[in-house]
Amino acid sequence: MAQTRGNLFILSAPSGAGKSSLINALLAKYSDMKVSVSHTTRSPRPGEENGAHYHFVNVDEFKSLIEKNDFFEWAQVFDNYYGTSKQAIEEQLAAGIDVFLDIDWQGAQQLRKLVDDIETIFILPPSKAELESRLNNRGQDSQEVIASRMAKAQSETSHYDEYDYVVVNDDFASALNEIETIVLAKRLSLQSQAIRHQDLLADLLS
Ligand code: 5GP
Repeated sequence: MAQTRGNLFILSAPSGAGKSSLINALLAKYSDMKVSVSHTTRSPRPGEENGAHYHFVNVDEFKSLIEKNDFFEWAQVFDNYYGTSKQAIEEQLAAGIDVFLDIDWQGAQQLRKLVDDIETIFILPPSKAELESRLNNRGQDSQEVIASRMAKAQSETSHYDEYDYVVVNDDFASALNEIETIVLAKRLSLQSQAIRHQDLLADLLS
């Protein structure tokens, strides 16, 4: 079987829609899927490790990476800078690994212009009340931050119609299954299968 290049998926959602948990569950299930580790200027939350959740850098370091053209995309989200380095994804894609980008709508807009073959998924919470409750339950941010994120959730959600797929994260297992279905459909596309099964096809058609 020939090695196909990995597929690139973007997952965006308002904060609190459950995107990180869905990505973690996918990665636990599939060894040939990875999430890109972004750079950010925000401070680590309790439990977050440098190099695993994010590469935590200061604003000067971030700006120097912009100048060196090291980012595939970057954006200011809330009050901080976030960016995907080219290095974070290129090696994995070349090794046939599917890469998920957990980025916002601004990053998605930039990448749609740069890459033709990219699948974009927007995750919605089941209701505004549930979103607010999830942001409160997280217990890692102040009330002021939560109120500001509720306002920004609406602004992020207003971009849902720019995405290829929309998944509502009401029942976690169903939402996970829906994302898996999108990934598997992409893997079964003619473009991927023609490369993966080129020997079989050559044999069948000879
Ligand atoms: P958080 O600070 O809660 O980890 O992330 C805040 C927002 O920044 C989320 O919507 C997340 O998807 C987005 N984000 C994280 N990394 C990147 C990135 O590399 N690029 C862009 N454009 N957005 C990102």
